[in-house]
Amino acid sequence: MHTDVAIIGGGPAGLQAALTLGRIHRDAVLFDDGTYRNATVSHMHNVVAHDGTPPEEFRGHARKQLTAYDTVTVREERVDTIEQVDGVFHLRVADGSTATAYALILATGVRDGLPPVPGLDELWGDLVAHCPFCHGHELSGQRVGILGAAVAPHLSALLGPVASELVVLADGEDLPDEWHPGPVVRTERVVSVERHDGGVRVALEGADGDQVHEQVAGLFVKPALRQSAPFADQLGLELNPSGCVRVDEFARSSRERVFCAGDMAHLAAYPMPMASVVMAAASGQLAASAATMALLARP
Ligand SMILES: Cc1cc2nc3c(=O)[nH]c(=O)nc-3n(C[C@H](O)[C@H](O)[C@H](O)COP(=O)(O)OP(=O)(O)OC[C@H]3O[C@@H](n4cnc5c(N)ncnc54)[C@H](O)[C@@H]3O)c2cc1C
Repeated sequence: MHTDVAIIGGGPAGLQAALTLGRIHRDAVLFDDGTYRNATVSHMHNVVAHDGTPPEEFRGHARKQLTAYDTVTVREERVDTIEQVDGVFHLRVADGSTATAYALILATGVRDGLPPVPGLDELWGDLVAHCPFCHGHELSGQRVGILGAAVAPHLSALLGPVASELVVLADGEDLPDEWHPGPVVRTERVVSVERHDGGVRVALEGADGDQVHEQVAGLFVKPALRQSAPFADQLGLELNPSGCVRVDEFARSSRERVFCAGDMAHLAAYPMPMASVVMAAASGQLAASAATMALLARP
């Protein structure tokens, strides 16, 4: 199979890129192995005209609309490796097939590494989240927890107007010197979290070994981001200090005809990806427009 543009990723970035290429009648194949960053989320927020829409409904709708465009194909497959031979990108697909492409749009997203507290994984995307813009409003007027001393000043400032009370769970770490916390601060080690009474019950262990509990409506953490897919490595793409691929204003990576979109990439001027559904879709459109320009310049 040969295509003009291979898009790897079927989240908002890849889906928008496919739509944009379909609209301009360019051949594109989108690969999607079904591992979305917001897979555990029941409703997404801060998405204009889709505030509160379940993510799978959003993706399903986008996929259905793509069927109107004959030049776009969607394959529910994992791509394992990509290499460039004589200027052409060769993709090895998990089902054993191969595909070639003139240009690539990588939209493979990132994975979240959570602090190693038992119980966090089970509540992730539901009662435990990282983004006050996405999850804050639903906790309006309630007691909200923040896990981690280093992130406490920033998250407290954002959540202050939303929550009735903030509880910082410092987990044995020192709070930043210059910060004078307004919220309640618990210095004990965090032992575990669990769903309780519609919220989160946090078990803490003091220096004397005694356990105490804090009950909060929801808990915010700062995950460590890592690439979902190995392609930045395989293609030797330049990275930002965040670990995300460095792109320019036209979604171009450091390798010609490799464009990147969504959470996996950002401009050098940003400290991290501006990770949201709208931003991912916008960068997918930009990447597809830039890929189209590369096709026009093809000898
Ligand atoms: C808990 C949580 C809640 C969130 N809530 C919100 C919210 O309410 N509102 C909001 O705007 N944003 C929210 N976000 C952020 C939002 O989910 C992301 O910014 C957005 O999904 C990024 O889109 P993307 O297309 O870059 O990546 P993703 O949506 O993660 O999609 C990545 C795609 O790449 C595919 N893929 C990866 N590797 C391969 C491979 N080797 N082969 C084939 N396919 C591959 C995956 O299958 C998937 O299709 C939330 C994030 C988290 C973690």
